[in-house]
Amino acid sequence: MFIDYHLKKSYKRKTISINIKNSEVTVLAPHFVAKSYIDDLIIKKHRWIQSKIEDQKLNAVKSKNKKSALVNMYFQLFGKKITIECARTKVSSIQFDGRTLFLTAASRVRNVSEHYQKQLKEFLQKCLQAYLDIRLAEISTAMNLHFSRCQIKTYKRRWGSCNSKKELSFNVLLAGAPKWVIDYVIVHEIAHLKYLNHSQNFWHLVNSNYSYVKDAEVWLKENGISLQI
Ligand SMILES: [Zn+2]
Repeated sequence: MFIDYHLKKSYKRKTISINIKNSEVTVLAPHFVAKSYIDDLIIKKHRWIQSKIEDQKLNAVKSKNKKSALVNMYFQLFGKKITIECARTKVSSIQFDGRTLFLTAASRVRNVSEHYQKQLKEFLQKCLQAYLDIRLAEISTAMNLHFSRCQIKTYKRRWGSCNSKKELSFNVLLAGAPKWVIDYVIVHEIAHLKYLNHSQNFWHLVNSNYSYVKDAEVWLKENGISLQI
């Protein structure tokens, strides 16, 4: 999940500070700090930022009695940027119109930030499952290798796995990657049904069933962190 922010650099400043006001996030940083460093920091701190924005929104709502919306939140779905809008309503719900994901939290929900996080994960899991249902069948048939079961899991440092019981699993965060990258992970894990290692034979099998191995590996290395929610 990403957060849009304004960046103000200064020659005088010695430390980085994150200011949040009216749902706007401003980062004040010394002139020598790289943009990529600040992007990483924003990703690491996004939960804290999100809860701050939500707190401020709730306070505003209490005083004005209006709906709250996290207007500047977004995430990625199959490589596309999707905006998130949140609101407190009578019942919790998840709705998607192809461009915006609408998350609502029932008034009894205490930790709204955690609630939205859970809803987003549930949504990503559903989207990835729908894609895997189609592509896993197609690719495993084409490669003539068959798995016993497939699960979607939450992993910190891996995109997929395959064990000796022919069970496959995929990282829920893959739902954020473009489909051509997901296809690579699928081919990679299916190839492990034949070779449970990264031998030459394994790579030969992967390369003969997928043409952009290097590009997909580079994509995951460079963009993997941006898929964090
Ligand atoms: Zn592998």
